[in-house]
Amino acid sequence: MAGKVTLVGSGPGDPGLLTIKGREALEAADVVVFDRLISPCVLALIPERAERINVGKQANHHPVPQEQINQILLEKALEGKQVVRLKGGDPFLFGRGGEELELLAAHDVAFEEVPGVTSAIAAPAYGGIPVTHRDFTSSLHIITGHARAGKPLEIDFEALVRTRGTLVFLMGVQSLADICNGLLAAGMAPDTPAAIVERGTLPDQRRLNATVETLPRAAEENGVVSPAVSIIGPVCSLAERFDWFDVLPLKGRRIVVTRPRERAGTLAARLRNLGADVFEYPCIRTVPLVPCPEMEAAVARLTDYEYLAFTSPAGVGCLWDMLERHGSDARALGGVKLAAIGTGTDRELRKHGLRADYIPAVYDAAHLGAGLAEICTGRVLILRAELGSPALTEALDRGKISYDDIHCYTTVYESEYAASLKALIQSGKLDLVTFTSASTVKGFAASVGACDFSRITGVCIGEQTAAEAKHHGIPVIVAKRADIDALVDAILHV
Ligand code: SAH
Repeated sequence: MAGKVTLVGSGPGDPGLLTIKGREALEAADVVVFDRLISPCVLALIPERAERINVGKQANHHPVPQEQINQILLEKALEGKQVVRLKGGDPFLFGRGGEELELLAAHDVAFEEVPGVTSAIAAPAYGGIPVTHRDFTSSLHIITGHARAGKPLEIDFEALVRTRGTLVFLMGVQSLADICNGLLAAGMAPDTPAAIVERGTLPDQRRLNATVETLPRAAEENGVVSPAVSIIGPVCSLAERFDWFDVLPLKGRRIVVTRPRERAGTLAARLRNLGADVFEYPCIRTVPLVPCPEMEAAVARLTDYEYLAFTSPAGVGCLWDMLERHGSDARALGGVKLAAIGTGTDRELRKHGLRADYIPAVYDAAHLGAGLAEICTGRVLILRAELGSPALTEALDRGKISYDDIHCYTTVYESEYAASLKALIQSGKLDLVTFTSASTVKGFAASVGACDFSRITGVCIGEQTAAEAKHHGIPVIVAKRADIDALVDAILHV
């Protein structure tokens, strides 16, 4: 296949603002060339097989020069690779996207551009500032505040003031005083409303409101640093009334989500949409046991069983991987009844067109076992992790129900983020850690190692999870029900 370069705008910071087309391009990439300030959640969408090239500026390092970036894009595309060039905001708005295409065009390399949500509009929006409003202004002007080294700004301030439009300055923190003085000297009224939004759309976004006369001082006094956009115009007066981001219920909260990567998404996104600063640190990984002759044999004689029981979505996944390897499908399960520990596992079954016949009222191993003991008269096949909770089989034993307890995956307790996780806990800035199973607690404790957990709170999905957390000295609160809704609810009421 011929190589191609896709310029993708990743948006201003909130990972939810990546476009669907941008995500699709990332998921299909062989090579991703990215700048700094791209959200780790967006980078997490890059397939493992893809090569990642960071050309952004790093501590003590200079960014890769533009010519070299152009060259990398060209070379990779000529090798036949699907190359994604991931840039902050919109690639064509002060993003040098155009320059990167020139060399490709000269070599007849195919390219595409996927526009992104620009910080010029999104940062004001998350600060409660609509960049246009019929009562205030009829135009929007986006200006770079960047001056070439040692040179004055090349901005026609008179022309800007004459437009009476909303003015948005990017790259202008350093030159804010020159910008505002330029506008005042060109005749702008000193009491014209103005604002600056730092780290717009990110959980630690700050907005300051002032006037064009007082903005530089306000920014300096509050230590505003790049990246920030400055907005000048009457629309800034709407900010207090329209602020919706700073008033989100979890604003300012730092929360760690420990779920395995493939399941973290929904919980993390929900907490983020409530304003929390979410750190996704998967602390466990499930590794299927392949081949798994016991599971294969049991599935081959499924008619021996009345119930097939799953204690996690991972167990369902392992069974399906096995069926697929054998070129089989859901029909292999025949008429066996299905039991799931909770709604998450049931949802995994539904992905395959099946639904659980039984889900206990309380989503844990003890209740699954006790419930099955009541409704089942035949034999139960359990497909679950090595070292699964004994509460399930103990309850079946008590009910005199026969079963086969087959282990189809192992849980690995580790985190590639252990060092940063520990630093975050020790900084005292972390509020909450969510635990969706006892094994995520084990993974968290094993990754971090010896540490004082007394200043964090573990938000636990159920009693077994809470018991494990307490065992490691983590203060806990427990969700009213063992599901994600109740977990989010518990966090809202901390
Ligand atoms: N192409 C980008 C802009 C690149 S220039 C876009 O469309 O957003 C870099 C400037 O963008 C920064 O100096 C800053 O002014 C602005 N910027 C980028 N991300 C920002 C953010 N999250 N909050 C505020 N300003 C941001």
